[in-house]
Amino acid sequence: MPALRLVLGDQLSHKLSALEAVSVDDVVLMAEVNEVLPEVIHHKKKIAFIYSSMRHFAAELIKKGVDVEYVQCEYSGKFKNLADVVSCYLDKTGFDEIVLTEPGDYKVLDNLKDTAKKHNIRLNVLSDTRFISDQDEFREWAKGKKNLVMENWYRAMRKKTGLLMDGSRPVGGKWNYDRENRKPPGSGMNVKPPKKFRPDKITLAVMASVEKYFTGNFGELKPFWFAVTARQARQSLDHFISNHLPYFGDYQDAMLEGEAFLHHSVISHYMNCGLLDPLEVCVEAEQAWYRNKAPLNAVEGFIRQIIGWREYIRGVYWLYMPNYREMNYFDARRPLPDFYWTGETKMNCISNVVNMTRRHAYSHHIQRLMVTGNFANLAGIDVQAVSNWYLGVYADAHEWVELPNTLGMALYADGGLVGTKPYISTGNYIKRMSNYCDNCSYDPGKRVGDSACPFTTLYWDYLIRHQDKLEDNHRMAISYRNLNRLSEVEVKQIRGQAKKILDSL
Ligand code: SF4
Repeated sequence: MPALRLVLGDQLSHKLSALEAVSVDDVVLMAEVNEVLPEVIHHKKKIAFIYSSMRHFAAELIKKGVDVEYVQCEYSGKFKNLADVVSCYLDKTGFDEIVLTEPGDYKVLDNLKDTAKKHNIRLNVLSDTRFISDQDEFREWAKGKKNLVMENWYRAMRKKTGLLMDGSRPVGGKWNYDRENRKPPGSGMNVKPPKKFRPDKITLAVMASVEKYFTGNFGELKPFWFAVTARQARQSLDHFISNHLPYFGDYQDAMLEGEAFLHHSVISHYMNCGLLDPLEVCVEAEQAWYRNKAPLNAVEGFIRQIIGWREYIRGVYWLYMPNYREMNYFDARRPLPDFYWTGETKMNCISNVVNMTRRHAYSHHIQRLMVTGNFANLAGIDVQAVSNWYLGVYADAHEWVELPNTLGMALYADGGLVGTKPYISTGNYIKRMSNYCDNCSYDPGKRVGDSACPFTTLYWDYLIRHQDKLEDNHRMAISYRNLNRLSEVEVKQIRGQAKKILDSL
């Protein structure tokens, strides 16, 4: 019974469940198609990274004797999406079933179900064993819970994996060392760049195609230095563990002008497309602690991001889709400002983060959450437009991970399913955690006047605008106590200044 086996651009792992029982009669189909919404504009570096990694992976499969049918982007323009490629292939050939590992995008699965139905062929969707938990496990855990507290899920995953565990207790006596991981950037931080690779022939060919077929897309393609094979990605992980993991915890929230990576791992795009196995990554980090090469606060914080947050976010996505994408708690509809593409704004923090994103298809979690995300939330930027921006511009963004992080965490558009309160701040938080404000025309301490920081003005205006929806949230109690101390004149001034800022966007 020959099967048509699909391998998607974010499933580049030889341990993939869809490849487990591949036989000589089967065909593995891979296609360079834009799977997501047409309105999402992908970063050139992201496209080159995924397509080059796919071509390298296909070559490895062929070397192992697997029959691979591969559609390059030069020929895929006539197809709407993967389901369309599959449909066309099924018109010409006979298979008994389509086999694939759960995709990371609800719509991809939906389209493939329709295609299978149209061709009257079985669609065999296998669990994605690259994750530590599966969808049913998360659903079961979430059942009957009013709040899906990530910390509780994380502890369950610690027990399940045994990572940093001493029997049933966490090593060191504490589950979470987050409080120790919020240091501002140190002076004279000497930071090694991430591991970089010279593009080989395959990557150079992909880059030429990206220049030709994605000319108008956002982002700088060169220099291209990402790993595109599992072996290279492994070297990137080793580089991080040796050079950065010891400092990752302390400085994970810090931001520095001109320093894109600091002590971050820059491996999320490798994990999210299958080049690195998340559990293996965690075991390597854990070993660094056992060998006294990295402190517990750093290792625990790093592992929590992967087995806690990453798994939790995936669970949330599949639990609430397809309705999740439509959520818009504050009815935020303002168009996305041009400076999210150009970086041309007097706000030095946003300019820095957008320019870094344009260069590297990367920024770290605090830049995404507390700079671009914070501003979009404070200014009431359209939820779909912001989600599409994040999905397009970051090399590690796939819908399962991007949507709950953007719509839920950064924008609070799910009304509190992911975050227990909106992650908003005045410019003072950015001043504390970065040096952006040193070179800015605005003053983070001022909420009104010509030099007032837009983050600070909009923070107070946001509290006023959304008082009916947020005042009863106990985690917002201090913010509302402070707001209620303002005089009527001060409130009027803030509202006037905020209107001017919002009208100018
Ligand atoms: Fe950003 Fe405000 Fe600081 Fe300027 S002053 S860098 S706008 S937080």
